[in-house]
Amino acid sequence: MNFNIEIPASKNELIELLSEYKNKKYRIGAGCTDLIMELRKKPEDDLTVINISQINDEDFNNIKLSNNKIVIGANTNVVKICTNNEVVTNFPTLKEAAQNLASNQIRQVATIGGNICTASPSGDLICALMALKANLEIIDFAGNKRSVSILEFYKGVRITDLKKSEFLSSIEIDLNKVNPKNMYSGFIKIGTRKSMECSVVSLAYHIQLNENYKVISAGLAFGASAPTVIFAYDACDFLINKNITELKNNEIDEFANHILKYASPIDDLRATAWYRKQVLFNISKSILEEFSKTN
Ligand SMILES: Cc1cc2nc3c(=O)[nH]c(=O)nc-3n(C[C@H](O)[C@H](O)[C@H](O)COP(=O)(O)OP(=O)(O)OC[C@H]3O[C@@H](n4cnc5c(N)ncnc54)[C@H](O)[C@@H]3O)c2cc1C
Repeated sequence: MNFNIEIPASKNELIELLSEYKNKKYRIGAGCTDLIMELRKKPEDDLTVINISQINDEDFNNIKLSNNKIVIGANTNVVKICTNNEVVTNFPTLKEAAQNLASNQIRQVATIGGNICTASPSGDLICALMALKANLEIIDFAGNKRSVSILEFYKGVRITDLKKSEFLSSIEIDLNKVNPKNMYSGFIKIGTRKSMECSVVSLAYHIQLNENYKVISAGLAFGASAPTVIFAYDACDFLINKNITELKNNEIDEFANHILKYASPIDDLRATAWYRKQVLFNISKSILEEFSKTN
């Protein structure tokens, strides 16, 4: 594997490089845990890797609170995500997705931006961020910024809305409606083994209740069962205004079917499409059954 490497030291240097490489062949590398695998499988000639891992920028490499939002720099590594107090308190679904990603060694270098931009249908952080309806801030080679919802970002298998000469700068999650006291939020990952394994099926849920267990807002997304991670709009609508301690069995089935109807899995090395659908149905039901049992 042969390529040239550019190592910008700041976001401004990155922007300058993107401008310089506008009409040339390049790839951005952050932790490079996905990129190296991809280039090993499909080597490219005359390629430059713009390695952004050395960029020294507080906002790009960390998690901050700003205007009642949590802002996560795209270069933040996965360890920081599972240990950050704001994430742990307000967004358990994201903490659990991060905690279960690969292994401790990989979590030290793998970044949230890399997980989002590699656009794998089994991307664990993507799944949690969709349930949280996160917004992505993108910057281009001229320094122009734009914002796009993660719900609109994925266009097909490993295809995103990111244009050439743009990079992902940060991820914002709204804190306005979050009340950790009445929240039901988590991440279920089914794999062929406990660690170092991509999801066979995953489900992220972030449900805000009032003090009487009535659902005020809901975010549900699943991974590894369609060409992209999918947000289950109808399952979210189904829950609104329902008391989740009083759901009957037929309603729980209906809820799981609302998720399943978005699934279009394939057979691959890890599991068959049939198995993935069964598992997705069962884990969808289980989140409501578990809640009733424990409350
Ligand atoms: C053994 C192993 C186990 C794994 N297990 C899991 C798992 O359990 N769950 C899971 O979800 N993933 C898993 N992965 C995949 C990978 O580790 C994650 O997707 C990781 O978050 C990628 O981050 P990175 O910084 O290494 O990305 P990189 O490899 O550096 O980049 C990935 C892609 O994103 C682009 N990119 C990176 N940053 C930016 C940016 N700021 N702007 C624009 N484009 C950008 C790159 O150009 C590249 O196309 C695993 C990988 C390995 C090797």
